[in-house]
Amino acid sequence: MARYWNEEIECMSREDMKKLQSERLVKQVKHVYENVPYYKKLMDEKGVTPDDIKGIEDLHKLPFLTKADLREAYPYGLLAKPLSDCVRIQSTSGTTGKRVVAFYTQNDIELWEDCCARAIVAVGGTNEDVCQVCYGYGLFTGGPGLNGGSHKVGCLTLPMSSGNTERQIQFMMDLGSTILCCTPSYAAYIGETLKEMGYKPEDNKLKAGIFGAEPWTEEMRREIEKSLGIKAYDIYGLTETSGPGVAFECEAQTGMHINEDNFIAEIIDPETGEVLPEGSKGELVFTSITKEAFPLLRYRTRDICVLSREKCSCGRTLVKMSKPMGRSDDMMIIRGVNVFPSQIETVLIEQGYSPNYLIEVDRVANVDTLDISVEMNADQLSDTVKDIQKKESELVAAIKTILGINPKVHLVSPKSIARSEGKAVRVVDKRKLHD
Ligand code: ADP
Ligand code: ZN
Repeated sequence: MARYWNEEIECMSREDMKKLQSERLVKQVKHVYENVPYYKKLMDEKGVTPDDIKGIEDLHKLPFLTKADLREAYPYGLLAKPLSDCVRIQSTSGTTGKRVVAFYTQNDIELWEDCCARAIVAVGGTNEDVCQVCYGYGLFTGGPGLNGGSHKVGCLTLPMSSGNTERQIQFMMDLGSTILCCTPSYAAYIGETLKEMGYKPEDNKLKAGIFGAEPWTEEMRREIEKSLGIKAYDIYGLTETSGPGVAFECEAQTGMHINEDNFIAEIIDPETGEVLPEGSKGELVFTSITKEAFPLLRYRTRDICVLSREKCSCGRTLVKMSKPMGRSDDMMIIRGVNVFPSQIETVLIEQGYSPNYLIEVDRVANVDTLDISVEMNADQLSDTVKDIQKKESELVAAIKTILGINPKVHLVSPKSIARSEGKAVRVVDKRKLHD
């Protein structure tokens, strides 16, 4: 069984990869400068010309691009090819505001699908596999990206899209799906539904899942692996850089290899914009060095993570990114304390609860409030009010230990929190409604 989709690239020496990146960067900067007036202006304002960029060591001289730039330039302002050369648009899910659109030439699609093929092979996928894709199809990049990767690998592809969970399960069972691709929250929901339908984890033929598009914790991974009887792998990407497959997890399950032949990654201090040394935690910035139609240079993802060049047991030399712990704008500041939903998720699952929860933040009499609703397990339904209050207090104490602030915890009945078929909504911040 092939271990890599493209061994030459995935296991390339650091020196060769730097050389390849440098060559591509120099070409790309020229392409953008000549074809994207919006970015040319940013370069002119910074006093940088394409001649100043001789290799990746000069990357830091280029100006950043942000989501605000993308919105300002909407829809065509960052397009670098004539529309007649473009064959597709995709759009962000709009998790944090107005959508942005991205454009693709046929070659851009090929490269993107190639990245997804690497991800599928990395979890053991071959042309013997049945790959069920239940990421949303359409403008969202999840479905189309993995669909394309699955075709390239030669898997029998089930283009299910998201939703209609019982039908998903019927196809999974009837056709013997071996690889499942969806958001981790939807994978958890599928696992829960399988159990309700009376199936045991070993009843399905699944061996691996490729789950991404939203933050998820290691605890959630173990939960999904148990309920589906599989290995669960992470995949990362964003519409602005193509879609899923910018980075993918290998058998080591200790972070995602970034497809560095297409994307140069940097970690910066989100406050100052300063490039941080390897191994520091900060905001991930990507430069697309192969994209033709929508080639973003130094795009600030707002995702917070760490890069590592430690040798990986899988043999790949591509740099690894840690699971993003949430984006900088997912971070809530509650009574002056920085809180990520993932920290709360970790505690809940560790304490034996399901990953079905909702965080509500509000401000009452100038004080921030934090209310966490968590579904109780079926066996707690017979508990007395006193038992439930005791369990709520235990959760409050455990969360306080991690966050340093006291939340209110409400144990609610099973199934009362809406399940997600795509990206889960975990936080309702009502303060924003008042301000
Ligand atoms: P939107 O920004 O509207 O959600 P996208 O659908 O393009 O648009 O989503 C990209 C974002 O999704 C990333 O910037 C990141 O915050 C999140 N994301 C994608 N994959 C992962 C992952 N594996 N882990 C955590 N977050 C992820
Ligand atoms: Zn690896």
